Amino acid sequence: MMTKSSLSAQTYSQTEAQKWVDEQFTTILNSQNAMPHHCSKESLDLHCPLREDVLLPGVHTLGVLGGGQLGRYFLMAAKQRGYSTVLWTPEQTPPAKGLSDKVIHAPFDDEVALAEFAKTADAVTVEFEAVPIPTMLALESLGCRVRPSSKAIAVCQNRALERAFLVANGIAVAPHVVVHRKTELETAFMTLGEAPCIVKTTRFGYDGKGQRRITTLDELKQAWKELEGSPEAPLLVEHLIPFKREVSILMARGIDGSRRNYPLVENQHINGVLNMSFMPAPETQGHTLLQAEDIAKRLVKALNYVGILCVEFFEMEDGSLLVNELAPRPHNSGHFTIEACHVSQYQQQVNALTGMPLGNAEMHVKAVGLMNLLSNRWSKKGDSPNWQELLSRYPRLSVHLYGKKELRPNRKMGHITLTKKDTAMVESAFDEINAMLTTYD
Ligand code: ATP
Ligand code: MG
Repeated sequence: MMTKSSLSAQTYSQTEAQKWVDEQFTTILNSQNAMPHHCSKESLDLHCPLREDVLLPGVHTLGVLGGGQLGRYFLMAAKQRGYSTVLWTPEQTPPAKGLSDKVIHAPFDDEVALAEFAKTADAVTVEFEAVPIPTMLALESLGCRVRPSSKAIAVCQNRALERAFLVANGIAVAPHVVVHRKTELETAFMTLGEAPCIVKTTRFGYDGKGQRRITTLDELKQAWKELEGSPEAPLLVEHLIPFKREVSILMARGIDGSRRNYPLVENQHINGVLNMSFMPAPETQGHTLLQAEDIAKRLVKALNYVGILCVEFFEMEDGSLLVNELAPRPHNSGHFTIEACHVSQYQQQVNALTGMPLGNAEMHVKAVGLMNLLSNRWSKKGDSPNWQELLSRYPRLSVHLYGKKELRPNRKMGHITLTKKDTAMVESAFDEINAMLTTYD
C-alpha cells in the first residue's frame, strides 16, 4: 500500500506547472491558422459583434459538435426548449442523427462545413472533447458563442495539459510523469518509485482505451511500443491508485458565473469502462462532499467555464480525493439526471449555452442507479436483451438505446436507469437484472 505522503508527491512544482500551462496556451492560440478558412464574419453576413448574450427559444439555433449519445440527449433537451439545432458530425449514421433540424456531415477540418455551421449556429457546444482546437478557435473568431471555450476544451482533451492545469491550481492528482522519449522511460519509472503504474495516451483515450497497467520497466517499455509513444504523442505514466472507490461530480456554470452542482455519484468500472453509477454516492462523508464541490467550484472558475463540467475522482480510504480526469460536457455518470433530478444535465447544458438561468439540480427521488449496456449484451446473430422479461419484472425501468448498429467490443449501446427508495434497493435490483441479461463473448 502506498502511504499518503507518497501519494501527494509531485514530480513538478505548482509554479513549474503554471509556467508550462501558460506556454501551452500560447501555442494553442497560435494554432488558430491551422484551420484553413477563407470566410469572415462579414462574408458570412454575421453581425459584429455577435448579437445579445441570451438566446431565445424559437429565435436562435444551437450547434453541437459530435453526434454520439451525449449529443443525442443534448439535442432532445434543446428541442424540448424550442430551439432550432444544427449538428456537425463526421459520421454518416451517428446516434444523434434524426434529432437535429440540420445535420452537417463532414470532417471537422472542412472549410465549407465550418462556414455553414458558423452561419447557422448562434451558439456552439460539444458532446466530446476530442474536437480539433483550430476548429473551435475558428468558430470563436467568426463570432459564435463557443461554450465551453476552446481553452477549456484544450485543457480537457490533453491529459498532460489537464494534469499540469490541476497541479497549477493546487489540486491533488496521482503522482505522474509525462514521457516524451523512449530514453526517458527508465528515469520515469525510478522517479515514480518503481511502483505499479498505469500508462495512458495523452490524447483520444476514452472508456479505458489507450491504457496499460505495468509493474516492471520491461512492461513500461512494451507499453511505450504498443501505445506508440513519441515526442508528438507523449504518454502519461502514473501510480496505480489503491482507491476506496471512484466518484464524480457534475457542475454547471452560467454566463453570469452562477453555479449548480448535482449530488456526488459513485461509479463502478469493469476493465476501465463504466459499468454502474449510483446517485447520491452512498455513505459519503461530509468532508468528501465538500472537497468535491470545492474542487469543481475552483476548476469552473479557473477555466472561466460556461457549460457543464464533470470531475472524476479517486476517493481514498480517509475520504480525501484525487482528481482523475475532467470531461467538459455531460457525462455517462449523469445520464440518470433525466429521471432523477428536477433539471437534467442536458437541460442544464442548454441553460448554460443559451445564457438562461441554471435550473434546480437536486434529486426529486431518493436514489437512482444506471447500468451501461455494452455490446456483449447483444449476440452476433442479432439476439437482444429479453426486454419483455425485464420490463415485466421492473415496469418502471427506463431503457435508453442509442441506435448503434455495429457491435464493436465494449461499445456502449445503451443504458438502463432505475429509481428506488435507497441505493441498496437499486443495487439488489441491478444484481438481479445483471443475472437476467445474457452476456455473449
Ligand atoms: P472515461 O473516458 O471512460 O472516463 P478514460 O479512458 O478517459 O475513461 P480514465 O478515466 O483515466 O480513462 O481511466 C478509466 C478507468 O481506469 C478509471 O475510471 C479507473 O477505474 C481506472 N484507472 C485509471 N487511472 C487509474 C489509476 N491511476 N489508478 C487506478 N485505476 C485507474
Ligand atoms: Mg475516466
